[in-house]
Amino acid sequence: MRVVVVGAGIVGAACARELARAGLAVTVLDRGGPAAGTTAHGEGNILVSDKGPGPELELAKLSRSLWPEILDGLPNAGGVEWDPKGGIVVATTPEGARELEKFAESQRAAGVTAEALDAASLAAAEPHLTREVTAAVHYPDDAQVQPSGAATALLSDALRHGADLRTGCELIGVRTHDGYPDGSRDGASGERGGASSVWSVSRADGNRLTGVRTSQGVIDADLVVNAAGPWSGEVAARLGAPIDVRPRRGEVLVTAPLPPTVFHKVYDADYVGAVGSGSQDLQASTVIESTGAGTILIGSSRRQVGFDDRIRPFVLAELARKALRLYPSLAGVQVMRAYGGFRPYVPDHLPVIGPDPRLPGLWHATGHEGAGIGLSVGTARLLRELVTGAVPSLDPEPFRAGRPAVLGADACEGAA
Ligand SMILES: Cc1cc2nc3c(=O)[nH]c(=O)nc-3n(C[C@H](O)[C@H](O)[C@H](O)COP(=O)(O)OP(=O)(O)OC[C@H]3O[C@@H](n4cnc5c(N)ncnc54)[C@H](O)[C@@H]3O)c2cc1C
Repeated sequence: MRVVVVGAGIVGAACARELARAGLAVTVLDRGGPAAGTTAHGEGNILVSDKGPGPELELAKLSRSLWPEILDGLPNAGGVEWDPKGGIVVATTPEGARELEKFAESQRAAGVTAEALDAASLAAAEPHLTREVTAAVHYPDDAQVQPSGAATALLSDALRHGADLRTGCELIGVRTHDGYPDGSRDGASGERGGASSVWSVSRADGNRLTGVRTSQGVIDADLVVNAAGPWSGEVAARLGAPIDVRPRRGEVLVTAPLPPTVFHKVYDADYVGAVGSGSQDLQASTVIESTGAGTILIGSSRRQVGFDDRIRPFVLAELARKALRLYPSLAGVQVMRAYGGFRPYVPDHLPVIGPDPRLPGLWHATGHEGAGIGLSVGTARLLRELVTGAVPSLDPEPFRAGRPAVLGADACEGAA
């Protein structure tokens, strides 16, 4: 079976690795290069702590169990900077404490290790953290990677197992049994997709995908995996089957290297609410962690501003203000740089993993929003199991592409 994976971010890399190891003939294409998109513009937290009971937590638990096993088998895993340091979530108000304790209790019932810390244990674990904390919970299973390093290592393993990588190769459109539904004849023409006409053809006759048109010509394919992160909506539209994946902007501040100051991944309990919020306005909740190089990453914001990539000083100021509330000793520390990226956001906050009901041969592995680094390996494992007909490691139903949040209610009716 010939598979084209669109996108060489961490999700595409992980999927390519799983499919190549299963013996499929995989071509990964990216209009940039490996980790050219969001994967190089986020943080590398692998979290179970921020997910309440439900399908995303199950995917996070699967992924967390796979990471060490996968890294053990990679020849060049050094750049991954795997650090199973654990996370600590803190509340700073009485109401926040009640919410955090309730949340942790629900996670324990779902099999997550969540240990309440008293003031003395918290001070021992994080000596520079403010003492103005009303509750703290330790999650030993939270971990961290360097996202670009992890994506590159996964991709290298895919190439080692026979996958082919095409960089500077942009997906333009689809080829089906009937030819090019947008009317083009030359796959290398560079002409853009004509999504609406493609859409009507594939819906009308259940046409099967046989290849993709790219800026480097036509590539034959029996199966295409859309792993284009925040651009997955556009890629799906070019293939004739639009999905609702939107960019959700996030910014991060990076300090100059410091002596050891932050020992776990530490975040404010507000973070969980910000992740789950659908608001378009600025949500900023403190997430702080150190890196192997000694820098401290201070994240992160959430805003829906399309693909506007301007760094906004008011967002950075809000991140810094909230970080100082948790770590007063960071006052006066040099900020080395700030950066931002676009999380691939789906309105119901769940990834999209599986076949598209409208265009046979099209699959999606996308929509992981702020958790795609952590969830990449579990997503890839589930995708491989579904493609090869193996028993899935978890219930794929909640992630199916045909749900209303992904297709929109009208499209769902048409696809049913
Ligand atoms: C500020 C911030 C902090 C974050 N922190 C974390 C965190 O701590 N932990 C975590 O798990 N996640 C985090 N995330 C989210 C995480 O980064 C993403 O979920 C993840 O990187 C998505 O990976 P991806 O492979 O799906 O997409 P991407 O990395 O965006 O890859 C998509 C690729 O598709 C390519 N592409 C797009 N269109 C085309 C086309 N037409 N033709 C060919 N190629 C195309 C792009 O060039 C790109 O390389 C964060 C995100 C942000 C913005």
